[in-house]
Amino acid sequence: RIAYVNGLYVPHAEAGVHIEDRGFQFADGVYEVCEILNGHLVDETRHIDRLLRSLGELRMAMPMSRAALGVVMREVVRRNRVRDGVVYVQVTRGVARRDFLFPAGVAPTLVVTARSADRAKTEKTAETGISVITLPENRWERVDIKTVGLLPNCLAKEAAKAAGAREAWFVDRDGFITEGGSSNAWIVSATGLLITRPAEFGILRGITRTVTLEVARRLNLTVEERPFSREEAYAAVEAFGTSASLGVMPVVRIDGRVVGDGKPGRAARALRTEFHKVAEIAP
Ligand code: PLP
Repeated sequence: RIAYVNGLYVPHAEAGVHIEDRGFQFADGVYEVCEILNGHLVDETRHIDRLLRSLGELRMAMPMSRAALGVVMREVVRRNRVRDGVVYVQVTRGVARRDFLFPAGVAPTLVVTARSADRAKTEKTAETGISVITLPENRWERVDIKTVGLLPNCLAKEAAKAAGAREAWFVDRDGFITEGGSSNAWIVSATGLLITRPAEFGILRGITRTVTLEVARRLNLTVEERPFSREEAYAAVEAFGTSASLGVMPVVRIDGRVVGDGKPGRAARALRTEFHKVAEIAP
């Protein structure tokens, strides 16, 4: 495997950054994960747009033009011969003597990696659906920035695994679901409404979420962007999560309670199929 690190393509096993990198010291960095389908980068423009936004929110510099970044991403995908998988892009504030204050005149660190995913396995998972657990929200307020500071997400997903579930959904102090550890959360109400939390508050604006909203409208599904509670999720007829690496992923159990009839729902399955069609033909 080959990784890109600050201008060089290097063997993945030997790729590294300095111990004083602020990504390592302070989680002072941002990232993107972009799906690769049939060798094609899905929603590349939106991912790079969001990367620029994350960088801007942290007053961090972009190490190269977006066109150049696109070239590097493609080159990493090519050199790793990835047809289906993900490309990972990480930018940190760079290497400096450990000090809380932002260093002056330091070049950002850019790392790009790619790896293959087992698409057949993901499809199989989607056919049965996944289980989620809920946990109290304990992340900072700026989860709209895609930072590498993901320790609460790691802990939540570990707790999910220990409970035999695949994902954890965070619940805010008012009892509303925010999002998953690495996905956005959706439910379908008994009246057939698709419900997902507005992106303005307490969640990452997922690219898959945005595209799924567009796809839902095209399928004439009615969407309500509003917070929904854990109790509403328990009573939902369908639930699912969205993320670049898993697409639209049906949820069949929440905290051990069966959702609907315990099988992936109609809306989730239709959205998954349609999402893949769109992803494969998108520029
Ligand atoms: N929410 C969180 C916290 C995430 O980490 C992710 C993706 O990793 C998402 C939502 C889904 O975002 P996207 O669809 O852009 O992958």
